[in-house]
Amino acid sequence: MNIHEYQAKELFTQFGVATPAGKVAADAQQALQIAQELGGKGLVVKAQVHAGGRGKGHFTNGFKGGVHVVDSAEKAAEIAGQMIGQTLVTHQTGPEGKLVSKVLIAKSVDIAKEHYFAILFDRASGGHAIIASTEGGMNIEEVAEKTPEKIIKEFVHPTLGLQAYQARKVAAALGLQGSQASQAAKLFSALWNLYLKSDCSLVEINPLAITTDGQVVALDAKFNFDDNALYRQKAVVAMRDTSEEDPREVAASEFGLNYIGLDGNIACLVNGAGLAMSTMDIIKLHGGEPANFLDVGGGATREQVTAAFKIILGDPKVKGILVNIFGGIMVCNVIANGIVAAAQEVGLKIPLVVRLEGNNVEAGKQTLAQSGIDIISADGLTDAAQKVVAAVK
Ligand code: GDP
Ligand code: MN
Repeated sequence: MNIHEYQAKELFTQFGVATPAGKVAADAQQALQIAQELGGKGLVVKAQVHAGGRGKGHFTNGFKGGVHVVDSAEKAAEIAGQMIGQTLVTHQTGPEGKLVSKVLIAKSVDIAKEHYFAILFDRASGGHAIIASTEGGMNIEEVAEKTPEKIIKEFVHPTLGLQAYQARKVAAALGLQGSQASQAAKLFSALWNLYLKSDCSLVEINPLAITTDGQVVALDAKFNFDDNALYRQKAVVAMRDTSEEDPREVAASEFGLNYIGLDGNIACLVNGAGLAMSTMDIIKLHGGEPANFLDVGGGATREQVTAAFKIILGDPKVKGILVNIFGGIMVCNVIANGIVAAAQEVGLKIPLVVRLEGNNVEAGKQTLAQSGIDIISADGLTDAAQKVVAAVK
């Protein structure tokens, strides 16, 4: 799960991570009021979307930049008015861009130097890692590729946590001294606390700015939260903005389905994540393109199968469906009943290929054969993939 920058700012304030004051506005009028409250000069207006690269982005109406430094409340309101309701395209949004419905109005700072600082889950070390760099404000992947020596890494033990000496070590590696080194170390420790207490899997500050008057502040924020811990993060869940997410994925999560939308035209409905991945692979092997990854889970109910069918059929790109079920915990005839019920309820109009194997497979096949629904039945993965690829051609 992700959150917006203005929400990240609230978390920063709560945990004592230094960041300029700011508030979110949903229209130009609100922007004007907030800009006035913040002093009416030296402000920054920032489009709020779940994507980075806003500064260098452009709006589909031609307006340039999702981050603008302004010097009056009126100008802040004017810029806000030009951003809200428009679509912002950045290197992270894809060419279709993202609709901006809110902007952050914040106190601007004069930047002397931009650094990069992140804490993330590091599977390789079985702990957490700090990634920092003096090359802030730009794409960190590019820095890592072109100048790997400019990437600072510090591993954090999962139970010991970030030690004070480590915070100071990273600050020193960024070339910070004196008061700036202490401010940075304090900020890193506060951020570590926030990362741990909020079950984050990533917090990224780019840029971590050194201001011309010597302050160390977080100017941007990207957060990822561990979805498996959301049950104990009510405050975080309350910040979820489903309008930023794929609507198909939002619907799937309501029914406990593991769904990821893709760009192809062959929808897959599978039980088990491993089987779902091999189904996608074999579709590609036979020249097709999967429209999604969909795992209904080992114990899928009829309701879940119906919901899964509706999500699949709600996607206009889908030209055929491949159901690939292995009857294990879930016996084949129960799934077959679910498929029939769902197909009847949603009114199937595209080719449906079904491959069943495992417990009660004969009863399952019989259910499908007697249903009167136009089903192409398949034996084995290869046969299923070839049939569905042929059916959508
Ligand atoms: P991103 O492009 O989506 O990563 O958005 P950022 O919040 O990182 O802003 C992009 C760039 O705008 C930063 O790297 C800074 O150079 C600049 N910027 C952001 N906030 C301020 C600010 O308060 N004052 C000034 N002068 N520049 C800012
Ligand atoms: Mn940034």
